[in-house]
Amino acid sequence: MANRPTELTTALHDYVLAHGFREDDILARLRKETASHEWAIMQITPEQGAFMAILAELIGAKRYLEIGVFTGYSSLSVALAMGIEGHVTALDSNETYTDTAKRYWREAGLEKNIELRLGDARTSLADLIADGQVASYDFAFIDADKSSYDAYYEACLELLRPGGLIALDNMFHLGRVSARDKWSEDTPAIDALNRKIKTDDRVSISMVPIGDGLTLCRKRP
Ligand code: SAH
Ligand code: CA
Repeated sequence: MANRPTELTTALHDYVLAHGFREDDILARLRKETASHEWAIMQITPEQGAFMAILAELIGAKRYLEIGVFTGYSSLSVALAMGIEGHVTALDSNETYTDTAKRYWREAGLEKNIELRLGDARTSLADLIADGQVASYDFAFIDADKSSYDAYYEACLELLRPGGLIALDNMFHLGRVSARDKWSEDTPAIDALNRKIKTDDRVSISMVPIGDGLTLCRKRP
């Protein structure tokens, strides 16, 4: 029998929240403000923010590409980890959500380090490729509309340097991927991409059971 991970009970999750990471004060305030948003559930958890920050530190990331910004928690987590040497390209189609993100980027003194491109992310990614930014990013995070994930993954593979890292969020699709009777409209796209990545020898992979499932793909040199 395979070993099973320790079950993340509410009590154990509370323990992680209390002892598992340090959250910057600005991030804590952003999280508090976002908590009352009707789509608050879209934000990554603070422990995932800390995990992505430490990944950025580990790979010495200087250029981070984010697809799906919302109110800015994930982008600010990574931007703070990279510091003033870092550059973030942030893609989202919603100006209202990203106005909140911009306020917190400014408060953190990082607004000059973060370039927001508003509009459909597929178009913005094609623009980045056309602009000659191929192989220039260290780290990419895919967290926008699920039906386009495959297109985002392919674009990120182009935009990433060899050895760079792609993290794909919600690869459990709220647990639906393993429960066919609960599949929703977008679950087939996520499931198909999970299957494709499993045998994609352009990358080394690890699906991490944090949040709603975070798949890490390192672009092989
Ligand atoms: N990473 C964020 C959460 C992102 S939620 C965080 O941690 O807080 C998903 C975001 O994707 C939303 O802000 C939504 O506006 C954006 N989005 C959805 N479809 C999009 C598209 N086609 N192009 C660009 N952004 C899109
Ligand atoms: Ca997400």
